[in-house]
Amino acid sequence: MYLKSLELSGFKSFAKKTELNFSTPITSIVGPNGSGKSNIAEAFRFVLGEQSIKSMRGKRTEDLIWNGGGDAARANRASVKVVFDNHKRILNVDFDEVSVERVIYRDSSSEYFINGTQVRLKDVIELLAAAHIGSSGHHIISQGEADKILNANGRERRDMLEDALGLKIYQYKREESERKLEKTEENMEKVESLRREIAPHLKFLKKQVEKIEKTIELKEELRKLAKEYFKREDTFIKHNKNAIVEEKKKPEDDLKRLHEELIRAKETLEKSASRDGKSNEIIKLENDLSVLRSEKDTFVRELGRIEGSIGSEERIIRREEENALREGNQNVPLKEVQATATIIEEKIKELENRRDDGSVMAFFTFVRKTFSEFISRHKQSGPVSVRAQSEEEILKLKQERLTLEGKLKDCNEREVVLRKNLFTLQERIEKEKDSSREAERDMFRIMTEENNVRSLLASIKSKEERSMLFEENFKRDLHEVALLLGREMLDFAVFAIISEQGVTLNLQEITLEDRTKQEDRRRLVEKMKIRIEDAGAGGGEEVLKEYRETSERDVFLEKELSDLHLSADSLRSLIKELEEKLDNEFREGVSTINIQFGQFFTLMFGGGFAKLEIIREVKRRKSDTDIEILTEDGSTGDSFEESPVEEGIEIEVGLPRKKIKGLMMLSGGERALTSIALLFAISQVNPPPFVILDETDAALDEANSKKYGDMIESLSKLSQLILITHNRETMSRAGVLYGVTMGSGGVSKLLSIAFDEAVAVAK
Ligand code: ATP
Repeated sequence: MYLKSLELSGFKSFAKKTELNFSTPITSIVGPNGSGKSNIAEAFRFVLGEQSIKSMRGKRTEDLIWNGGGDAARANRASVKVVFDNHKRILNVDFDEVSVERVIYRDSSSEYFINGTQVRLKDVIELLAAAHIGSSGHHIISQGEADKILNANGRERRDMLEDALGLKIYQYKREESERKLEKTEENMEKVESLRREIAPHLKFLKKQVEKIEKTIELKEELRKLAKEYFKREDTFIKHNKNAIVEEKKKPEDDLKRLHEELIRAKETLEKSASRDGKSNEIIKLENDLSVLRSEKDTFVRELGRIEGSIGSEERIIRREEENALREGNQNVPLKEVQATATIIEEKIKELENRRDDGSVMAFFTFVRKTFSEFISRHKQSGPVSVRAQSEEEILKLKQERLTLEGKLKDCNEREVVLRKNLFTLQERIEKEKDSSREAERDMFRIMTEENNVRSLLASIKSKEERSMLFEENFKRDLHEVALLLGREMLDFAVFAIISEQGVTLNLQEITLEDRTKQEDRRRLVEKMKIRIEDAGAGGGEEVLKEYRETSERDVFLEKELSDLHLSADSLRSLIKELEEKLDNEFREGVSTINIQFGQFFTLMFGGGFAKLEIIREVKRRKSDTDIEILTEDGSTGDSFEESPVEEGIEIEVGLPRKKIKGLMMLSGGERALTSIALLFAISQVNPPPFVILDETDAALDEANSKKYGDMIESLSKLSQLILITHNRETMSRAGVLYGVTMGSGGVSKLLSIAFDEAVAVAK
């Protein structure tokens, strides 16, 4: 026994809490019409998760809740609880007793509980499906639905059979897998669309990253190159500076020395300026000497004249003496002598007006005087007194000569002193002139040297300026490269320059390199710098981060997509597997049911045959809403849109002694018997824990009621039976009988009764 009890509270006419215990294989529920018996069958459907209100004879959820009547106010909730004995673990939970409860409220909300724990409907369905208690209710035959299976179409019959055969679990699994597959495919589409969405961005980022990576590579290259460049440049500049300082030292010292020399030379020259005074002194001395000389010349000339006069007087004396000795004398007319003297006199006067150094003039003075004396002599005396006069004249002249010689001597003495002074002075001036000439030569030399030194210093200065320019460029380059590559660039000094031979170069060796190579290096540094700047180093980190994140996301999505593909594949194969299993078990089940169906049918009808046949139906669609189902060989001649082939169940019956084939031709009773035979056959093959039959026996006559009773008994060995009935025969087969009554308040009441009472109650 699996079904232990059913508890209704506020469900339909069961306003109060009512409990039915099912302790025997067959329980009958009896009572007058409208007392609430069918509400009990519906309470089973309800608690097992039925979602169709219509199948529970309601329009809205509220219709299932006690609506009030008599003293009892309407309820806000309806609940039904069914309790199973689970010692045999027919339900897949590790409890000996399992209760399933459903509660509904007027706001249409439903709650499900398994052993008091709230669960989802899905959990309830899964739990019960595993125990062949399907929500399709194949084991709950409601009133008037005995031939439901006969009225159903092939597909519906197949559903019922699947449920009865316990294949619903596969259906659920398949549907769930299909839902999952659908969801997976949706997710795949979503993931694909996400990937499609990020693809262009990722592509863009990838290009950016490639650029950045190139820039990073370039930076790395530049870092190495720039370190070598800076190290070399720094070494070169320092070396250059030291060299310039060294180079400058000598010319600067020279310049200082030359400056001092120049001062000295200038001083010397300044001293020579006093030479002018001395020159004036010389001029004066020379003038004195010249005056002295002319005085002396005058004295000499005078002396000569006196000597001449003496000689002339002596000659006169001698001539007189000779004349005296000779006979006759040649007389010269005085007039002529006077005329001659006049011409000479005039000539001398003319000459006197002209400049003369004195000597010519002295001579003319002498001529004039001699002539004058001659003429006067010849005027005054005759030839006898000439001698006496001459002698007297000679005496006078000798006296004059003595005076003159004294004066001349004095002149000579003075001249010696003057000459000596002049010589000394001239000597001194010459000496000074020599030293000033030397100073001038020195000045010239110094200035020439100074010029040379200055031009040398100027060339050093231009070197220095060039060196400063190098330094400025170096500092600017360093600053710019450090900005670009980071502060570590400032530590270029520790960079070791390795030669091609693999030897670390020292500072000295570094400076030996051809300068053009360093210039090439500088140009290259500049070029690379521009390339890096053009590449836009800023924001690189962010792009890399974004690319990393985006590509991680893409990889994640790709992985997710491949996982989804895998899970879709496994879902597809699971679905296929389930379908195969379903199909196989269904075919096996149908053939087993067929055996039982045939037996029950012949038992019921005392012969004939009945069987189920699996048919293939082609669903054809005229439009979205019109669906026509035809057998495979059926044809309408219209053009239809074909849908997949579906399998359905056809029932074939043959009544004994009647040429009846086809369900349509059966009488009501025959239909009831046929469907009962089928129901029982199904229940025999895969017995559900319980079967509820609501007045299935209503259409049976007494003979058939007996047969029905027999089948019930045999069926009750496999499944617990709850039979709602008015049939006496059926009642007689039950172990427990419940009577349902309804008072004036419309509340259903339950009472356990004996068979005789039941017969009475049923009436
Ligand atoms: P019969 O033998 O004629 O088939 P029955 O015993 O099966 O009758 P039910 O059909 O189960 O009777 O009960 C119908 C009764 O339940 C009706 O009287 C109806 O008024 C009552 N009922 C149904 N729904 C509700 C509800 N929500 N609240 C109160 N009473 C209800």
